[in-house]
Amino acid sequence: AYVIALPCVDVLDRSCVDACPVDCIYEGERSLYIHPGGCIDCGACESVCPVEAIYFDEDLPEIWAGYAIANAEFFIEI
Ligand code: SF4
Repeated sequence: AYVIALPCVDVLDRSCVDACPVDCIYEGERSLYIHPGGCIDCGACESVCPVEAIYFDEDLPEIWAGYAIANAEFFIEI
């Protein structure tokens, strides 16, 4: 699945939300998050993000590896 990383924080441009064909991008308080179970890996969100915050999980820069977990955890009900 694709993952939204640090550049989105406090930016929340939302271009990706409109681009996603399966509506799996959700808004949190300070960042947008991609539902890993809903993402179909189309890549549409990656190319429209103005701050290059979106990466395919295997291509995430090492320093942002934790964002894959952060995106998934946003959807865990507690
Ligand atoms: Fe949505 Fe496609 Fe981005 Fe996945 S890769 S979040 S399906 S736009």
